Amino acid sequence: MPEPRLVRVALPLPLETLFTYGVPERLADKALPGARVEVPFGRRSMQGVIVPGPGPGSAHTDAPDPAALKQIVAVLDDEPALPPELLDLTAWIAEYYACSWGEACKAALPPPAAEALVERYVRIGAEPAAAGPRQQAVLDLLATRPGTWVRAATVVGETGATYATLDALAKRGAIETAEMESSRASAPTDGLTARVTAPELQAHQRAAVESLATALDGGGFASFLLHGVTGSGKTEVYMAALDRATATGRSGIVLVPEIALTPQTVRRFRARFGDQVAVLHSRMASGERFDTWREIRAGRRRVVIGPRSAIFAPVRNLGLVVVDEEHEASYKQFDPAPRYHARDVALVRAARAGAVCVLGSATPSLESWHNAATGKHTLVSMPERVAQPGSAPARLPDVRIVDLVAERKSGRPASAISAALHKAIAKRLADGQQVILLQNRRGYAPVLQCCDCGHSPTCPDCSVTLTVHKAKRQMRCHTCGRAFRLESTCVECGSGALEQLGAGTQRVEEDLAALFPDARLLRMDLDTTGRKDSHDRILARFGAGEADILVGTQMVAKGLDFERVTLVGVIDADAGLLFPDFRSDERIFQLLTQVAGRAGRAELHGEVILQTRHADHPVIRLAKRHDYEGFVNEVLPAREALSWPPFVRLVRIEFRGPEERPVQELAEAWAAAFGESSRGFAGAAPIEAIGPAQAFIARVNRTWRWHVLVRAPRSVPPGALRAAIARTTAGIARLPAGCRITVDVDPMGLI
Ligand code: ADP
Ligand code: ZN
Ligand code: ZN
Repeated sequence: MPEPRLVRVALPLPLETLFTYGVPERLADKALPGARVEVPFGRRSMQGVIVPGPGPGSAHTDAPDPAALKQIVAVLDDEPALPPELLDLTAWIAEYYACSWGEACKAALPPPAAEALVERYVRIGAEPAAAGPRQQAVLDLLATRPGTWVRAATVVGETGATYATLDALAKRGAIETAEMESSRASAPTDGLTARVTAPELQAHQRAAVESLATALDGGGFASFLLHGVTGSGKTEVYMAALDRATATGRSGIVLVPEIALTPQTVRRFRARFGDQVAVLHSRMASGERFDTWREIRAGRRRVVIGPRSAIFAPVRNLGLVVVDEEHEASYKQFDPAPRYHARDVALVRAARAGAVCVLGSATPSLESWHNAATGKHTLVSMPERVAQPGSAPARLPDVRIVDLVAERKSGRPASAISAALHKAIAKRLADGQQVILLQNRRGYAPVLQCCDCGHSPTCPDCSVTLTVHKAKRQMRCHTCGRAFRLESTCVECGSGALEQLGAGTQRVEEDLAALFPDARLLRMDLDTTGRKDSHDRILARFGAGEADILVGTQMVAKGLDFERVTLVGVIDADAGLLFPDFRSDERIFQLLTQVAGRAGRAELHGEVILQTRHADHPVIRLAKRHDYEGFVNEVLPAREALSWPPFVRLVRIEFRGPEERPVQELAEAWAAAFGESSRGFAGAAPIEAIGPAQAFIARVNRTWRWHVLVRAPRSVPPGALRAAIARTTAGIARLPAGCRITVDVDPMGLI
């Protein structure tokens, strides 16, 4: 009897071990590295991925009893779901982000294979004679593509004809019709929509494209930081580089922070690259996602746009990766593992594929800025906005600071809108221009406080105050989502004097309605964007001029390009400024600069009003001047002096559990053990464990949170740091009931 073939399988469990399985003869052809398989595990059945490499008993691999060897039950795809390039990338992710290979694979795998979709197609027939205008419209459309099969649904959509029209035409031989395997990939246009041609690039854009093109033509890895102010035309630069890559048969991936917030960007790529574009995102149905993924893999779509997970798109012959708004925190995945940063994965993938990686932003992360300053990336700057035909470049908007402390002393009635902002809005309304207002807090009032005893209702499951939602007469927890009835008396002392402190977007909307009864308002926050296309609809209405004022959370700060917006107001520029997180300065500066960038992008000059109680704070002062480099010069030296990233490696170890005491003790035990085990790094600068400390939001969803920060010099290799952390965790004999330890490498937030 021949020896059974053995394979190693990575399972999506937080275990470093890879598991050995036998391959039954009938599956031998398909059981290849990268293939998704179903295997028995304990008493369950699980899906995992076959990984290459040495056999049982080798590093990280179990050594099963040959007599009890289990067999693979099924191979789930005809061709391995992860091509070698991606399998390799997941191995890097597991190593760098301290998770298991199986967990890393899960992030890169396509959705489950779906049944192929069969649809009706038509093409022009031998005798294209029409009876009536609708039939004529169909024939005219098909005549532009003789010989080509076009989806009947597309023809119906484009011409306003019905399926009955098509039947009538088919009967007479004017068109041919057939059922064929089709695709659920988004918005197939069958090549029928006209492509928009590139505008003539302006000098600063040409120079940027020149550097990228040189790198693309050279073949081989290169990375760029494209620092271009808001409205400098970065998207055109990305598209020109993509043109170059696709012209030579290569593919490109464009990462955007969040697809729902960037419909304009996606439309611009579609308009330029037509059917070559594939959009991948999580709100897509799984059949649609699977078909899109399959077309990318087959090389039929060569431009992929999507949020962080699109970095795993199985494109062929990768030439270019663009990370737009590379500073955005949404590129970092938090839960579940792998806790990867898509920008950094993009750099690694590009490096391994010999592709060019472009990180673009008006406000680069300090990590990327530092990497450019130390020569890891080539810096390309576009300090000017795009000029309108026949005029000078649009100027960046003027920023005015409104000091809320002074405003309060003046005795004006309480309102989220200061006198200065009120006047500025009135002027725009009179001139028929548009206004965007940012308030980075949804709901009505973030705190309800009893005037007599000072009690504020908090969520019983989380350590946060409840936010008042007035219209539904509710208080909601913005951490876990629970809703409670809005009481009219204090639950502690029974007093009826309850004060609603602070302003959420709903309150801003109410204050605006009182000040400007005739203005048309739109609100965009988590509460108004629950449905699949609600972002797009709100933005489309605003773009079409159906509203004068758009109020929203940070959703309104990103990437919007509306030429009639001439005023941007920030209701509370300080929100989050004083958070106990070394990145809070950076985050607020980025948010203020980005939202300011929405004003005056075309001919009309823009103005920005920042309402603040900290008018002298460096972040506010520098945001007023759009002074990114000033900001860097202020903040980077401080980061270095205090040993924060990008000058050190940082890993956050979080301990969670249902009771606080065991969580705290676990965190203490872990920190002590880590101190012991990392003493092995003699000679090198010390690796420290900071803490343990209770997390800023100490309890979430009935779960207590403590954390330890591990900080190491950059000279310590990531693998060594990971090993020290894993050793420490493995040394904890038993986790207390219900407790979990999670490891977050390069954490974005310490809250
Ligand atoms: P960014 O991404 O840097 O904020 P965009 O690429 O969105 O900037 O460009 C800002 C605006 O200028 C857009 O409306 C875009 O269509 C327009 N634009 C960009 N480049 C050109 C150009 N070379 N000629 C004319 N208009 C341009
Ligand atoms: Zn009270
Ligand atoms: Zn809660």
